[in-house]
Amino acid sequence: MKILPIFFNNLQKNYKSANINKSNFLINPLPFDTVSFGSKKHTYGVKDARELDDLPCACCGHIMTKNSSVNKFLNEKIYFPASQALILMQKEGFILNEQPREIRNAFEFLYVISQKYKKQTVAELLSMEQVKNYRKHLSVQENLAFDEICEQSKLIAHNSSYMIKAISSLNPDFQPIERAVFNELKTLSKKYPEETFFDILNRSEVKSKYLDNLKYKQMNILNNIDVLKEDLPRRYQFVVDDCINKSKEIFTNEQDVIIHKRKRVIEMFELALDRIKANKTAKKIIEEINNLPNSQTDVDAFMIKSSQKTSNSLAETLVTRTRSTREHVIPKHRVGHNGENSIHNYIYLCSKCNVKRKMTEYSKFVEDYPDMPANTQRQMDTMIRHINRGNLIGYDDWPDKIKVVLNEESGATKKHNGKINVNVGNLDIDYAIRNRERKKKRYVAECRSKNEKKYFKY
Ligand SMILES: [Zn+2]
Repeated sequence: MKILPIFFNNLQKNYKSANINKSNFLINPLPFDTVSFGSKKHTYGVKDARELDDLPCACCGHIMTKNSSVNKFLNEKIYFPASQALILMQKEGFILNEQPREIRNAFEFLYVISQKYKKQTVAELLSMEQVKNYRKHLSVQENLAFDEICEQSKLIAHNSSYMIKAISSLNPDFQPIERAVFNELKTLSKKYPEETFFDILNRSEVKSKYLDNLKYKQMNILNNIDVLKEDLPRRYQFVVDDCINKSKEIFTNEQDVIIHKRKRVIEMFELALDRIKANKTAKKIIEEINNLPNSQTDVDAFMIKSSQKTSNSLAETLVTRTRSTREHVIPKHRVGHNGENSIHNYIYLCSKCNVKRKMTEYSKFVEDYPDMPANTQRQMDTMIRHINRGNLIGYDDWPDKIKVVLNEESGATKKHNGKINVNVGNLDIDYAIRNRERKKKRYVAECRSKNEKKYFKY
């Protein structure tokens, strides 16, 4: 069910003066295996390593953004609370009289609730028990209307100059591609400060520049394959030729919807060479076709993909990639050997690195990411420093236990250590206990002096 086609474009206009209020709830479900986030209760230490603000990613080594900071950023800086969003939706072409009855009812219902919970986004309102219960009695169509309004409310975006300021104040430690994207957006925003990212990236002169760059890189790779194929058995030279021509057609002639083009081309080559995949040249060709730029590895591809999404999801994607997430050292779904959901099976990766590994054993994974052993050690050193100082609570046995798991997962045998064999020699539990006691005492004294009956949990 679509509401109004023009609605999308209208809502992409700017709202720089939005006064967004605080909210402690989540907008979107967290990616991967992230579950909880920073407790608001007063404590004297951190109980979840994702809440450390100087923890390097065990894979890329970049300092990760605290889990709660990302949530806060999205809730407070990017998305509008429902009380404002619904009004803006009406202003910008959400003409209620012309909507189906289901939409009108859902809109009115949400409007009333938003006046009571002024700080919550539409998504947050939908996750409230009372709203969930209300929706249980509704028809499918009536329920869809709620989701539709929620989707539409996410489209309301700030202008680019606001967005750049917001991201700058969060100041995430971007990886090189994300840093380059951000700098590119900054330059564009200087030129078109009042426009949203979406509008800017869909300006024909801007879009065609990224599209041309992207096509140039794609053609380069196909040309490389054209040279490589000469070493294939003759029959397969024709097959590859055919693939190259079809790919060129996909990349140049088809409508400009980019999503899935890369995947389709790669699959076509893989299928064509499947019977001779052990052949050296075939391997090289498959490797080369996998070098096709994508939005994870290439600025131009990121820009093109983002031009088909919304301003808000662009900002969310960019920032969320730096989020601190849990990584199961032994994968959760590995057949015959399930990794458990426990801190003794977790290391911490930025969200971008977390998606790369899947089920690959570390012994193989580190071949592609040779900095990982050193960065895992850096993470371990940071964790141990926090444990020793009494800042990190509940992790005393983490270094020793995770060391063993990491070693095994990275190929340890009876004779040799694995490729990730961290040193935990600096761990000093006695010192940690003394520091924690001291902090606890100081904290209790502070509470008493303020005469506060604050929730206290050891
Ligand atoms: Zn990383």
